[in-house]
Amino acid sequence: PRVSIGMGTCGIAAGAEKVKNEFISEIKKHGLDVEINITSCIGMCYREVNVEVDIPGKENVVYGDITPKKVERIVEQHIINGNPVIEWAEFQMLAEDGTSIHPIPDMEHTPYYHLQTREVSARCGRINPENIEEYIATGGYEGLENVLKQTPQEVINNLKRSGLRGRGGGGFPTGQKWQFTRDAKGEKKYIICNADEGDPGAFMDRSILEGDPHSIIEGMIIAGYAIGASEGYIYIRAEYPLAIKRLQIAINQAKEQRLLGYNILDSGFNFQIHIKVGAGAFVCGEETALINSIEGKRGMPRIRPPFPALKGLWQHPTNNNNVETYANVSLIFREGVEWYSSIGTDKSKGTKIFSLTGKIAKTGLAEVPMGTTLRQIIFDIGGGIKDGKKFKAVQIGGPSGGCLPEDLLDLPVDYDSLIEAGAMMGSGGLVVMDESTCMVDVARYFLKFTQSESCGKCTPCREGTTRMLEILERITAGKGKIEDLNLLERLARVMKTTSLCGLGQTAPNPVLSTLRYFRDEYLAHIEEKR
Ligand code: SF4
Repeated sequence: PRVSIGMGTCGIAAGAEKVKNEFISEIKKHGLDVEINITSCIGMCYREVNVEVDIPGKENVVYGDITPKKVERIVEQHIINGNPVIEWAEFQMLAEDGTSIHPIPDMEHTPYYHLQTREVSARCGRINPENIEEYIATGGYEGLENVLKQTPQEVINNLKRSGLRGRGGGGFPTGQKWQFTRDAKGEKKYIICNADEGDPGAFMDRSILEGDPHSIIEGMIIAGYAIGASEGYIYIRAEYPLAIKRLQIAINQAKEQRLLGYNILDSGFNFQIHIKVGAGAFVCGEETALINSIEGKRGMPRIRPPFPALKGLWQHPTNNNNVETYANVSLIFREGVEWYSSIGTDKSKGTKIFSLTGKIAKTGLAEVPMGTTLRQIIFDIGGGIKDGKKFKAVQIGGPSGGCLPEDLLDLPVDYDSLIEAGAMMGSGGLVVMDESTCMVDVARYFLKFTQSESCGKCTPCREGTTRMLEILERITAGKGKIEDLNLLERLARVMKTTSLCGLGQTAPNPVLSTLRYFRDEYLAHIEEKR
């Protein structure tokens, strides 16, 4: 038998270490031959600590909300006597779908899990992320093996055919991006993985890094082969210590297996990966600021052109993608382009992982095909709004995204429809708000964030965020005037069109989208002086 304990950051925060120790001591007490294994977050952060019990020949059982006090009963009743703790199952299942009682509390029967299409995050919470054998046993590095049989240009052509678009926010076609760097002149080229996930409410990348680090390494090696680069950097934020630790373990294991380093799988191709830990600046998620930071300079965006594909890290051609994009690359080359491009919509292929936070009943991660509606994500999977309150809005895409109201809940989520609605996919953070939320406060919160994270290099962003914040503070203090709304819109237009980087260009989005969909709340503050 094997007991696997969910030890991602969320599980550890909920007490997984104590649960693990309790299992170790109970198993010792009873003299059992049971393997204690660790996994990472399975996406159900709302019911951590998650524990999976695997008894050969029987269906696996996953328990949620496990505390040290519940361990003794699981060991005695389930592991020793072979009877899962059914009443916990009944409680789980009735609470989940209200219609049927399943005999075993397994994830496949919970709507939160079975309504998802878990492809990129399939291994998260199911394998031990610190054991390369488990990655390989579940098809890991097969994508790389397939790639090494193709020419680099064939790999890029296949990636273009897959329709993959960058998961970091902009949605630029990844194959085309790789082509630019491949075509750029230069002996030395670099691959960068942007793991500087800084949006408030976003934790998809952390979860992949903690739960399936080899998928990122594999995706980067594939990119290096296709582009002609022999070195890669993972730029990861210092606030993710567990992800850094697991990445380092994974890199060491890949080197031992000759999947990284010199002459990978006897192909003659060499690739090295370095980890660079960031220092907490949100703007370093912008690729040229990130490049400056790796070079040891202050993390400020560069003027473009030249673009990083031509002159990036140390002036060499550089390809930069985010964590989820590289995880998609490994998947595409393992499962095939045709399979991949059959998922999603016409122009947005594959799946997207969203983090569900705020006033939602079930916080966690949800992976769904592109084109799934917000209603399906928030209500069917996420269980709707906490405490029986009414939905008011959802902020999608972090501080650069927008706030969408109830009548856009049936909007299919893909890159293009979100932009039309005044929001953007961003990295995939969903912050759900209920009827008690003041939307002007929300706009002020996000603007406060971008104002304090603005690097100050260009005037429109440095001054624009400060002035917009002053106006929003005036309005929420009941001292606003009707002209302030026009002023906000004018400032937003100037910032969007003249700021140097994406931070300043998108900072007004929360203000513009709340003005568009919740103008009455601004007017109420102004007219009622509250
Ligand atoms: Fe810096 Fe803002 Fe200008 Fe970007 S837009 S360079 S963050 S001041």
